[in-house]
Amino acid sequence: MIILPKNLFEDCYGRYAIAAVNVFTMEQIHGLFRAGSKANAPFLVQITPVARNYAHASMLIAMIKAASKIYPKAVYAIHLDHGNEEHALSAIASNDYQSVMIDASHEDYETNVKKTSYIVREAHRKNIFVEAELGVLSGVEDEISIAEKDARYTSPQEVHDFVGRTKCNSLAVAVGTSHGAYKFSSGQGIQFNILKEIQAKLPGFPIVLHGGSAVNKTEVARINKANGAIRADASGVAPEEIVKSIAYGVCKINIATDTRLLWARVHREFFRDSPELFDPIVPGNTYMEAYEAFMLKKFDLLKATGKVASLLKKTKL
Ligand SMILES: [Zn+2]
Repeated sequence: MIILPKNLFEDCYGRYAIAAVNVFTMEQIHGLFRAGSKANAPFLVQITPVARNYAHASMLIAMIKAASKIYPKAVYAIHLDHGNEEHALSAIASNDYQSVMIDASHEDYETNVKKTSYIVREAHRKNIFVEAELGVLSGVEDEISIAEKDARYTSPQEVHDFVGRTKCNSLAVAVGTSHGAYKFSSGQGIQFNILKEIQAKLPGFPIVLHGGSAVNKTEVARINKANGAIRADASGVAPEEIVKSIAYGVCKINIATDTRLLWARVHREFFRDSPELFDPIVPGNTYMEAYEAFMLKKFDLLKATGKVASLLKKTKL
């Protein structure tokens, strides 16, 4: 069942966080919907422009709609991740998305305000929620690659003006997380002092953390044991930091890298351990099961498990 992000964020603020998970394949969509319906946890399905190019936008939406029928207990919304103006407008026009991100964070402040405001006006005509970004995250994800020297923390002094002028509905902030598998190569973590200042300027307003993967050391070790070559300094956000961020107004945690590492681990082990096999459904099934188990744990961590009942009661659907 589709739910509006407005309802999701009103319900979760300060209590739990919504997992926003990037999907590229059928196996990932099965794993996510199975876990969401089993855990009774609401979630966001995220599609990046690269995913739309890879699988085709229509294919992903069709698979998500099918998953909604197969797993009728799943409560979710569809979100466009890291859209530029063109992507966001295309997603808005398609009527398939309840939420879009306009990422003009690499532009100067005034251009970011201008581009975001334009997308907000177009989206709000159709009651579509808009996530914007202020500050610049480092790291590599899909077609985005930002060197650490070019990254910039979100300035708490700018957030109130930005949200007030653009009328965006949620704000992705740069407070120490980054994209990819090498989040804290230089050792920092989430900057809670900045997050606290942002919350003070925007009380009750949903904050989004990109780069929320944990980059589990055991998974990385298993990949490398099966002939992988993930660098030893691969690291993610500590689970306790994610939990702590909920009290600071973080409502949405983006997860992509962890599900990719899981894919690499399952498939590398399959090729290493079963060189005589060549059927995609064998590792495919293992991946779906591992994905489901991974998401069940993630929903628990974000305190989202079991929240569907109260959410639906509150929104009177
Ligand atoms: Zn991101």
